[in-house]
Amino acid sequence: MAENPNDWEPATRLIRGGLARSGHGEMAEPIYLTQGFAYDSAESADARFSGSEPGFIYARYGNPTVQMFEDRLALLEGAQACKATASGMAAVHLAISGLVRAGDHIVSSKALFGSCRWILNTWAPRFGVETTLVNGPDAEAWRAAVRPNTKLFFLETPANPLLEVCDIAAICAIAGEIGAKVVVDNVFATPLFQAPLKLGADLVVYSATKHIDGQGRVLGGALLGDQALIDESFKDMMRHTGPALSPFNAWVLFKGLETLDLRVHRQTQTAGVLADLIADHAKVLACRYPGRADHPQKAIIDRQMTGAGTVVAFDLGSREAAFRFLDALELIDISNNLGDAKSMATHPTTTTHRSMTEEQRLEIGLTAGWVRLSVGLEGATDLARDLSRALDAA
Ligand SMILES: *Cc1c(COP(=O)(O)O)cnc(C)c1O
Repeated sequence: MAENPNDWEPATRLIRGGLARSGHGEMAEPIYLTQGFAYDSAESADARFSGSEPGFIYARYGNPTVQMFEDRLALLEGAQACKATASGMAAVHLAISGLVRAGDHIVSSKALFGSCRWILNTWAPRFGVETTLVNGPDAEAWRAAVRPNTKLFFLETPANPLLEVCDIAAICAIAGEIGAKVVVDNVFATPLFQAPLKLGADLVVYSATKHIDGQGRVLGGALLGDQALIDESFKDMMRHTGPALSPFNAWVLFKGLETLDLRVHRQTQTAGVLADLIADHAKVLACRYPGRADHPQKAIIDRQMTGAGTVVAFDLGSREAAFRFLDALELIDISNNLGDAKSMATHPTTTTHRSMTEEQRLEIGLTAGWVRLSVGLEGATDLARDLSRALDAA
């Protein structure tokens, strides 16, 4: 019997999904670094542009290497369709602007990646779209924020940087009652640990720059959902506004997918060990990790996530203590990506979240003592030694 890719385990999907060999039978997928495609005849060009003949036209519309990335990620996610974009933010912007128009209203969780928050607070109002920000983990707050013109719910869970968790199924149920679409930014959970589409979401967005590349090389993003929704709301916008992913970056990213399962499981295992070490240290006031029993949304995590992820956040009480910690690190880098093979620590209030006002930061509990740690692939004992030394110095 022929293999059915939909029966494969995730690890197999990540290696074999979307594989489209050329006539040469190459083992590594080819990079089709081409912007355009030649047609056998004028009739064929006519048919391709009319849509009656399948095939590529122009790389802004589609490219075989980009398609392999889209097919592999769609198979992993269990989604009918995927559109790859040049960055995670291009995917978020596409998702939001494809689903709303002037006069519509969005409800979103407050704890968001800074650029997502900028799109909702600063950019969308220019086009007549208002957003109400709510405390994401409180599902009833979403219902209370609904207006007659609410068309979209947007959420990130676990959220950056304090790892608060929203109840995807409960929020999707509320959206379903009013006919609003739900978009979930699933970067922190990765496609391996959380499946928002199965919990009722309409679209999932990724920054592929994070775990999917996982080795700090390229930017990329993706948007996944049902074919009909992607065709209706995003296909023309992708074609005509141009956030296409480069074929070279697509190739780097699907090679990243081949090892995603291995990397994310190992990084998560190490993160669990380090989270306990951090939480038990005398200098640490609070430690937030989805794998710990003391996480405020533990019950939701048990229902909707199958793994805790690679990021740990902790509070050292003051900016001075956080800086002493960061400056005492010898192995772990001070940097601001996440999901990378190299472990890195970030001070959100002075870097990734500095564009938020003090008041906005306090609303999500983000004070100057918090540090975000992205756990990489180094040996757990070496990382523990570096962390212990730096925590002592804090
Ligand atoms: C990094 C990130 C983004 C943006 O992705 P880029 O690839 O940097 O554009 C969006 N959402 C979350 C949760 C992120 O961590």
